[in-house]
Amino acid sequence: MCPYCSSPFVLDVQHPQTVLAHLGAHILHDPKVNRNAQPCGLCGGPSRLCRFFLKKSHSAGGGMTVNMEASKGCSNLVKKFNYSTAAKSSSQNSPCSNVQLRCPECDSSEPTVWRYNLRYHLQNDHPQIPITRHAHLWGLSDNENTWMLALLTKIKEGKEKRTKKVKPALAISTAHSSKLALRSV
Ligand SMILES: [Zn+2]
Ligand SMILES: [Zn+2]
Ligand SMILES: [Zn+2]
Repeated sequence: MCPYCSSPFVLDVQHPQTVLAHLGAHILHDPKVNRNAQPCGLCGGPSRLCRFFLKKSHSAGGGMTVNMEASKGCSNLVKKFNYSTAAKSSSQNSPCSNVQLRCPECDSSEPTVWRYNLRYHLQNDHPQIPITRHAHLWGLSDNENTWMLALLTKIKEGKEKRTKKVKPALAISTAHSSKLALRSV
């Protein structure tokens, strides 16, 4: 469930990029979110509980990917996503660039920092470093800011486009009812 939506909203963890965009919109523009808590891009919880690591991707083109084996603590990390696509804000339909980054000032064995949190991480953990030095990593384009604000407006109006489910109806209702049961505990 989204921790920031006022009416219950199930995050579609089978489509991680939609989750990144949904929570990213809250993180960037929702006054409810405490940016200093550095919320996790996949579950919205405090980042220190969710530890992510990257590794070199074996797919064509190289690049990085989330190390599913080494990453720990985030219950919403259930499915791999295309890291290089998720790292780019490319259009209104793919507006969010919030991915896990290696902090250039941390030891390489440290867990990653979400792009949207990097500025806060630098301020807190590396106050001696001028914040502008890594602006190319945490700075966002005007387009991304605008698109993400538009997405938050849609979320708040309950009009966010949901991913079409291809699962049979029975599977959906089972998953749904177990979620509801969990929530009522
Ligand atoms: Zn939400
Ligand atoms: Zn998390
Ligand atoms: Zn750092």
